Amino acid sequence: MLSVLLICILAAVAITACGKENTPPQPDNSAAVSQPEANPSNGNEGQGNAARESSGQGAGPDSEQAPAANNPQKGSSAADKAAAADPHSIAVLVNKELALPEDYEPSDLVYPDVRFTFKEKIEKRMMRSEAAKALEEMFAGAERDGIYLAGVSAYRSHSTQTSLFNRYVARDGEEKAKTYSAVPGHSEHETGLAIDISASDGKCAAEDCFGGTKEAEWLAQHSAEYGFIIRYPEGKEAITGYKYEPWHLRYVGKEIAADIFERDITLEEYYDAVPVSGTP
Ligand SMILES: [Zn+2]
Repeated sequence: MLSVLLICILAAVAITACGKENTPPQPDNSAAVSQPEANPSNGNEGQGNAARESSGQGAGPDSEQAPAANNPQKGSSAADKAAAADPHSIAVLVNKELALPEDYEPSDLVYPDVRFTFKEKIEKRMMRSEAAKALEEMFAGAERDGIYLAGVSAYRSHSTQTSLFNRYVARDGEEKAKTYSAVPGHSEHETGLAIDISASDGKCAAEDCFGGTKEAEWLAQHSAEYGFIIRYPEGKEAITGYKYEPWHLRYVGKEIAADIFERDITLEEYYDAVPVSGTP
């Protein structure tokens, strides 16, 4: 609990330093979640996927370590550092140690005009406008190559993540809940810049078996052309804090995506940030 508070305080300090308004963390007891949420043990698309995909192997005792704070090491420019800590930036860095402010909510969420694995116009179908436009271009580019993709889960509000996490804590206790669900403020889906993608048939949605499919291969090879990265690559678990997730795409813009793709690095490494956790 102390470490969570520290993270919030440090994030608040960093954000204030780059001129963004910020209010002190407030308890969020909102239970206003209208969308159905699947049990994490089943295979349906939905919140259950979030729980499963969030079960980073690094979320053991390491999660109790003191936060590393927003202090990317030498090599990052001042502008880079500001972007990494700015929740409004498309280049914001969010991980198990760096949180979004509790009151952050994207102001430009839209429904991207692409196929999803469900029909409803609900929260998890939304993305920030720039990312949504890039997603539409990426899906169109994939189709030109005969690859048919579908969105599984994109935006998730802080209150949704909080409700979800609190429910898991009530059921399993905080320590166990942390092993399979992201702590509120630490899920990249809260940025409106991340989306889980599957093949159009929805098979292996947000599951390990998506790896190695032609859709996953296409995304790994071409997503950077549209400004997306595979956020949790294979073999980088000790740096990202998450196991390999070939389905989790993060929009960072074409420039940063191209650099990350060419150098075969992670967003943490791009910022020269310290590893998120020790041994996964
Ligand atoms: Zn995801």
